[in-house]
Amino acid sequence: MDKNHNDIFALESDLKRAIQGDVRFDSFSKTLYSTDASIYQMEPIGVVLPRDTDDVLASMEIAKSAGIPIMPRGGGTSLAGQTVNHALVLDFSKYMNRVLEVNYEERWARVQPGIVLDDLNRNLLEEKRVRYGPDPSTSNRACIGGGIGNNSCGAHSLVYGKTSDQVLEIEAVLSNATKINFGPLSPGELEKKLTKQDFEGNIYREVLNIAQSNSTEIESNYPKISRRISGYNLDSLLGNSATNMADIVVGSEGTLCMVTEATVKLVKTPRYTGLCIVHFSDLAVACAATTPILKHDPSAVELIDSMLIERTRQSPAFSRLMKFIDGQPKAVLIVEFSGETPSEISKRLTSFKVDLQRQSLGYAWLNITDKIEQQKVWSIRKAGLGLLMSIRGNNKPIPFVEDTAVDPSRLGEFVRR
Ligand SMILES: Cc1cc2nc3c(=O)[nH]c(=O)nc-3n(C[C@H](O)[C@H](O)[C@H](O)COP(=O)(O)OP(=O)(O)OC[C@H]3O[C@@H](n4cnc5c(N)ncnc54)[C@H](O)[C@@H]3O)c2cc1C
Repeated sequence: MDKNHNDIFALESDLKRAIQGDVRFDSFSKTLYSTDASIYQMEPIGVVLPRDTDDVLASMEIAKSAGIPIMPRGGGTSLAGQTVNHALVLDFSKYMNRVLEVNYEERWARVQPGIVLDDLNRNLLEEKRVRYGPDPSTSNRACIGGGIGNNSCGAHSLVYGKTSDQVLEIEAVLSNATKINFGPLSPGELEKKLTKQDFEGNIYREVLNIAQSNSTEIESNYPKISRRISGYNLDSLLGNSATNMADIVVGSEGTLCMVTEATVKLVKTPRYTGLCIVHFSDLAVACAATTPILKHDPSAVELIDSMLIERTRQSPAFSRLMKFIDGQPKAVLIVEFSGETPSEISKRLTSFKVDLQRQSLGYAWLNITDKIEQQKVWSIRKAGLGLLMSIRGNNKPIPFVEDTAVDPSRLGEFVRR
């Protein structure tokens, strides 16, 4: 899409007239928004920081009239170039970052897309013991909207699933610059939507038609693994009594609409947790051990390999946190158990260790029940990529093939190959 200088100037002026938020077309801002956490760089046409849904509607209307692409952005922590493009970028993180409503009894929160995940959790009353479930490593800077775009999940996906398991309803701005609400529809409500002779009716008819006419392919070829996040979630529309178009928005990487509000579930947090750090002298053996480990119903299983252990030992900030590593393992698995009493945790850790020893899985099994010590372990896991990138010199790991999802039962074989 080639736009000349006058077109761009007119676009900027139109946006400045229509928008309450910020409009940035200066080269410094465009350079800032040319990158995200990926290796890709593309300069945007301009940047809008909307203050509210009306700003999003106006931006969409202006972009549509000018015939230019438009792209939403949250924290910009995507690793595969999702938030860089020659487009009008809408950054939701500066102003549209509020908690709008919380219902503790029914356990849900209505939020704006630019709220950072950790900020949402900090906003919730501690005594209610609830939190937003998905916890990607970037939770201190990644936003709800970005998590919806990427269908993010984190260390606790075993218990809380992916973002698609946590989103109840979505308010969004569509490409025709109108607002829409997506939520669960009963068969009767869906029938009514299907008869509507407007853009919304079209969406329901077209999307359901795509899902139904490809149902055989979808059912046989969509991988049946819990952490699959690639592609549109067309499988969610098949064989369900309630249809929810929000399921299709989750994981759509900003290609379908701009989310302006989301109602998300809150999950109950466990009273107590305990970790077992299982040490392995072989990486593939550690990966293969996840299958027997999962039989113990842990709340998280995460791997730290020898390269990350080495980097952490050399990092002045993190080396003092590495007291939980025994010897020179090729990998450790952090296995977390959750429960309502300390004795429940203690029993689970004991039977877990006995079972692993019986199967000769690992060479050392360190239990950690102290809360602060557990946080230190998680902080290293969360800092993983940053620590790897801190390797001195020009030879750095390059993150560009991300989120390969493998059935845990084949993980050992996958890593060995
Ligand atoms: C070190 C590191 C560790 C990571 N660890 C994890 C991990 O453990 N698990 C995981 O899932 N991911 C992980 N990621 C990837 C990324 O951090 C997450 O996917 C995160 O949830 C993205 O949030 P964000 O706000 O940065 O989104 P962005 O990168 O800003 O956007 C992500 C996508 O969402 C779209 N989007 C943003 N806002 C909206 C909106 N309002 N409406 C519609 N679409 C929108 C964007 O267009 C884009 O396609 C990691 C990344 C890094 C750099």
